[in-house]
Amino acid sequence: MSDHLFFEQLIEKYSNELVLISDEQGFIKHVKGALQSVNFNFEDLIGLQISNLIVEKDSPFIHPLLNRCNQEVVGLLKYTKAQQIAIQSHIYYEDKNSLYVIYIKPTSSFYSEKKGLEQIKIFYENLLNNLPVDVVVFSPDHKYLYINKIALSDEKKRNWLIGKTDQEYAEKFQLAPSHIKGRKETFRKVIETGNLIEYEEEFKGKYKNGSSKWLLRHFKPIYNSLGEIEFVLGFGLDISDRKKAEIETLKNLEKQKELIQLKNKFVSTISHEFRTPLATIRGSIDLLTMFLEKNQIKHPKINQFIVNVNNEVFNLNNLLNEVLMIGRHDVSLTPVNFTNGNLLELIKKIVAQNFPYLDNRKITVISKTPNHAIQFDPKLMFHVLSNILSNAVKYSQKDIIVVLKEYKKVTTVTIEDFGIGIPEHEQSKLFNSFYRASNSINYQGTGLGLVIVKNFIELHQGKIELVSQLNVGTKFKITIPNNQ
Ligand code: ADP
Repeated sequence: MSDHLFFEQLIEKYSNELVLISDEQGFIKHVKGALQSVNFNFEDLIGLQISNLIVEKDSPFIHPLLNRCNQEVVGLLKYTKAQQIAIQSHIYYEDKNSLYVIYIKPTSSFYSEKKGLEQIKIFYENLLNNLPVDVVVFSPDHKYLYINKIALSDEKKRNWLIGKTDQEYAEKFQLAPSHIKGRKETFRKVIETGNLIEYEEEFKGKYKNGSSKWLLRHFKPIYNSLGEIEFVLGFGLDISDRKKAEIETLKNLEKQKELIQLKNKFVSTISHEFRTPLATIRGSIDLLTMFLEKNQIKHPKINQFIVNVNNEVFNLNNLLNEVLMIGRHDVSLTPVNFTNGNLLELIKKIVAQNFPYLDNRKITVISKTPNHAIQFDPKLMFHVLSNILSNAVKYSQKDIIVVLKEYKKVTTVTIEDFGIGIPEHEQSKLFNSFYRASNSINYQGTGLGLVIVKNFIELHQGKIELVSQLNVGTKFKITIPNNQ
């Protein structure tokens, strides 16, 4: 059977006013029928691309056609360069022969073709004018093709602008050279890259109070079926409120930063200033003790006073050290020096050095795995472990067990005591500055130790966990990676 005959048979199946048959690529192979009141030889359409012929709302009749099968598509049929008609079309796919059969009729039986077109135009005009966004359409050479009312409310100006370039517009309305340049550059980039580009435009002192108006502009290239940019859609949003809020937030952040810096500086200056009188008090106490000994003055009350002063000086000194350490950490000034080291050796050293005399109790250090060198900062880890150990010593009267375990990637240290424990509902707050559990009131402390411990462990990318039961005991577990 000839192609022609075969096509005709196919059409009879779907008979309608105008029927087109296209191959899989969308090229028209056969045409039958005509459209009411359109005086045109539709045979001339053979060989054309369907996506060039039928234009949907805002984009060409898109590939793959298969996506549009068995649904009503409303659009325009461009049957000559200058003429088009509003149509409804239906596409069927002929599986067996891989052909599309597209049947077409004028948009609505209620309107003439011309009216139909006008209706579509009015509908979209209305839509565009009622969007709370300014919308413009440019030709690829940056000429205005369409402007909605939000973009330019003055109708005279709008009409004048159609067909003019953005440069002509900018000159006529005396836009600042920076605006002209910015828009031109951005438009050029859109055409060059073929991508949507957003940019912010500031109109200085636009509002009565002297503040700026900000617009977030977009240029979006719209392509035809041949992959060429047919026009560029421009739309802009007024983002002045957002911009103002952003500027305000930035200002506040800056202020906050300044305040934090001021606070840190203040705290560390004060702490330093306290150190000198403290050293003088300590020195004077030593001199006083020596004087009393030399002159053999012995009085239990005097001795007790001296012990009290010494204790308080010691506590105050500790507090200053911790405050200074926290202040340093806040401004991220804690230097971290990772070296290869043996954690077991470090723990043993701390126990020997810091807790040589414990009455009737001991600290047992157990290592269950071979100890290889791992990476940590010895100074920071010294501080971490001695702090947790001194808490264990302070808050319990029984033996303390330290267990070191080395895994493939991490090493853990658990420090367990059998002392006063921590009330469950308070456990989550222990890592807040100055927080002390309610049952530790009668013990000396600052509530800063664990904050520093946590910070130092985090500098090792590690973590600290605790398990505790009131009047039973507390277990802290530190985990750090073997390699930093
Ligand atoms: P402090 O100087 O008060 O000991 P830390 O920051 O080291 O400060 O600890 C915070 C609080 O956590 C302590 O005040 C105490 O209430 C509780 N705490 C810490 N370790 C223990 C422990 N081993 N046993 C019981 N309570 C503990």
